[in-house]
Amino acid sequence: MVVLSADSKSLNSQDAARDFGGLIHSPPRCVVCPTSSDGISSLVRVANATAKLTIAARGNGHSVHGQAQALNGIVIDMPRMPTNAIRIDHGGGDDDLFCGGPFVEASGGALWIDVLRETLKCGLAPRTWTDYLYLSVGGTLSNAGVSGQAFRHGPQISNVLQLQVVTGNGDTVTCSATRNSDLFYAVLGGLGQFGIITKARIPLEEAPERARYKRLVYTDFGAFQKDIERLISLNEDVVNYVEGIVIPSCDDPYQGYNSVPFDGEAIDPSLIPDSSGPVLYCIEIAKYYNHGQEALMEDTCLQRLETLLGSLSFVPGLTFTTDLTYFDFLNRVHGVEEVLRKIKQWDVPHPWLALFVPKSKISKFNDIVFRDMVCKGVNGPMLIYPLNRSKWETRSSVVVPDESIFYIVCLLRYVVEGGQPLEAHVQQNEEIMRRCEINGLNVKQYFPHYHSDAEWKQHFGDSWGKFLANKIKYDPNAILSPGQRIFARDK
Ligand code: FAD
Repeated sequence: MVVLSADSKSLNSQDAARDFGGLIHSPPRCVVCPTSSDGISSLVRVANATAKLTIAARGNGHSVHGQAQALNGIVIDMPRMPTNAIRIDHGGGDDDLFCGGPFVEASGGALWIDVLRETLKCGLAPRTWTDYLYLSVGGTLSNAGVSGQAFRHGPQISNVLQLQVVTGNGDTVTCSATRNSDLFYAVLGGLGQFGIITKARIPLEEAPERARYKRLVYTDFGAFQKDIERLISLNEDVVNYVEGIVIPSCDDPYQGYNSVPFDGEAIDPSLIPDSSGPVLYCIEIAKYYNHGQEALMEDTCLQRLETLLGSLSFVPGLTFTTDLTYFDFLNRVHGVEEVLRKIKQWDVPHPWLALFVPKSKISKFNDIVFRDMVCKGVNGPMLIYPLNRSKWETRSSVVVPDESIFYIVCLLRYVVEGGQPLEAHVQQNEEIMRRCEINGLNVKQYFPHYHSDAEWKQHFGDSWGKFLANKIKYDPNAILSPGQRIFARDK
């Protein structure tokens, strides 16, 4: 077992009043770092007995709309709790719920990058991820945790064996699909509303050593959609990761077509057909493999991958390949972070918009949003990729469209000097939501953020009753995660 030592640089109230979004600033009364989950439980009981006091568990503060903040309340600095630990169990014990398989038990405040580092030491790893790993276990499990593996394995919330949770009543409860299951499913995707996750057990599989990582460029949305949906329907193990990106058709090195090659080289513009529209589309795929299998892989896996590529309709000549260790592949966004930190473009406002769009509406969404409203880009990546609804646990609290395939769309905006001002980005997000509404696109926000009760009820739809009932049962005084602005403590 690895005990993660408490960082001496613990958060102060100024830090806890900020987040990655940089849009909301809610100073707490104090920031605390309890020494154990019993300490969290005592704190929650004190809050229950103190008028108007609220508590936000803060993961790594990578929310964008103040969701981990608590105005005049208490912020718990989860990653710096001194008892944080990551323990690997190789399976077979009485405790084991995962068909005898290995699992990792990580504290709610542990970061996924540390979970990866520790599990890899045993040649193991969780099977489904987020694109960026400096996020906390409790933070992503309170949302969903989505990346290019989710088409096959579902989001992170579909890959949890057991949780230890301190509810808003102060009770410490162990829950799973078979034990206190209503709390288990309420907490998964529950936006921090029902309890503070203090431990999570995540199943592990054998970790591959390497990833062959490819990008394929398309000009036609119909061809992109047909191919990417085919890729996520494949049962066989041809690809392990599938994502998509929309790229403004320009030579801007950061967000235009020259951002596609892995080696930073420029694309020959004559390869882009004249018929292409204002944006291009790119499918990203990865195939995992092991060193020892390289020769075998040349014969089988890679050949199958190449055969598959031969049947896809990307623009001839516009395909790019790199090969990374599994760790570097999963940790790829950290490299981008380091570059952006150097040029002081990481700690800038991020008015991100993330949506789930039903498959039946994605083409219309593309016409309205990508080919028109954001065709010149958002100063950051624009992601679009399909997910299989069957891999999402319907009993969890997260809300997704009711179609067998839906897309995740993320406009990852960076507000930089000389670019569009913050207000313009925010207004454009609002306009996108308005146009989705008037065109009946039935989108759902991921990391939802609303201003009124009516909007929250509309977001949850038929599951609002269950969400409200769980709140009354597990956090009746509305103490937890006030920054989500779903419920307000009024006494
Ligand atoms: P925080 O922002 O600190 O908290 C999020 C919410 O969860 C808050 O309401 C908080 O109170 C609550 N919470 C935190 N810890 C706990 C706990 N232990 N128990 C109960 N509630 C808790 N998301 C994806 O799904 N896929 C991605 O690929 C992805 N990539 C990202 C890349 C970057 C650069 C960034 C900034 C974010 C990305 N995210 C992604 C979003 C990320 O999942 C969310 O920001 C999420 O909130 C996790 O961040 P966090 O751990 O910092 O949580």
